[in-house]
Amino acid sequence: MSQTILLTGGAGFIGSHCALALLEAGHRVVILDNFATSDRSVVAAIRALAQADVPLVEADIRDRCAVAEALRAHGVDAVVHLAALKAVAESVERPLAYYDNNVGGMVSLLAAMDEVGVRQLIYSSSATVYGEPEQLPLREDHPLRATNPYGQTKLVGEQLLADLAAADERWRVVSLRYFNPVGAHPSGLIGENPKDRPNNLMPLLVRAARGRRDGDNEACLSVFGTDYPTPDGSGARDYLHVMDLAAGHCAALSALRADRPPVQAFNLGTGRGTSVLELIATFERVTGHHVPYRLAERRPGDVAELVADPAAARDALGWVARRGVEAMCRDSWQFATRGEAAS
Ligand code: NAD
Ligand code: UDP
Repeated sequence: MSQTILLTGGAGFIGSHCALALLEAGHRVVILDNFATSDRSVVAAIRALAQADVPLVEADIRDRCAVAEALRAHGVDAVVHLAALKAVAESVERPLAYYDNNVGGMVSLLAAMDEVGVRQLIYSSSATVYGEPEQLPLREDHPLRATNPYGQTKLVGEQLLADLAAADERWRVVSLRYFNPVGAHPSGLIGENPKDRPNNLMPLLVRAARGRRDGDNEACLSVFGTDYPTPDGSGARDYLHVMDLAAGHCAALSALRADRPPVQAFNLGTGRGTSVLELIATFERVTGHHVPYRLAERRPGDVAELVADPAAARDALGWVARRGVEAMCRDSWQFATRGEAAS
């Protein structure tokens, strides 16, 4: 059934891919973004790729009146809430900014939704809510605990939704716990394009490969940790193609039904771990470009391995990740080198 979806953070990395997936599935999408960490040009790219007039509300989720007005004006049925700040190290330095944006913003968004009577929400959570894993792969019933302010804001978000649904049975909420989203749209027109220095592995790996290609001998990736209890000693993560992740949001919409539990949480991952050194090797093989790297100390706060058990999403939502690490590397490189002459 076609619905009208308000997509907060719709101009961001994951939001832009969600917008396209939702449009392709026949939904109407309204993007709400304040462009804190994204660029207006992304909205134009979404419109061009979808060949659709996708309305944009340039607003902050903390502006309750603007959000309520957008919900009313566009006749929104459900909200997919991605707008947040997400840099772990920055959250340690600026916890107030993170609580204000991610928690305060979410309270304001939910209040606007309640006021207008829109009580269906899909929430961007994260594997970070599991903290240090007690067993792998991680199932949704693993204990939840955050190890940094960013993770704490994601966890508070989940708890806030549970409290809200317990207080008012009309709410239906799904939290999606993303593992490590990478890759880009196969068109090469949208992808991960952080305004500030990237922190995540794939954009840094791409940057190192580009630097080397362009003759920048300083460009070098640090591999954080060589003595983890993984086959090659580097940290392992469950990398997930952003196109698969976006499809997971479409699947989750179908779980916002009155006959489903009011509060649900699902891992979105592949169930397979890939180490940093394996990812570098795959990237080099797929793109034909060398990635200069140096072995470095462990990054504080990192765990050895995080891998999802994605069975619950498969069973309840009919969702499985289809793309492998090769496609993730190829599409990330294609996006990074878009518009450049073949190299
Ligand atoms: P992103 O920074 O690319 O996108 C976030 C978007 O939200 C940006 O367009 C930004 O301008 C917007 N935004 C931020 N604060 C806002 C506010 N107050 N009002 C309106 N818009 C605001 O990040 P992303 O990687 O696309 O992440 C999207 C969501 O997924 C976040 O909630 C993040 O916590 C979650 N998540 C991301 C990852 C990851 O590795 N990328 C992993 C797990 C969870
Ligand atoms: N990593 C690395 N070098 C970097 C950035 C990350 O070796 O410059 C490693 C990190 O230690 C972890 C993996 O890459 O094992 C994924 O890190 P990322 O920050 O992308 O995601 P996280 O799982 O920490 O959210």
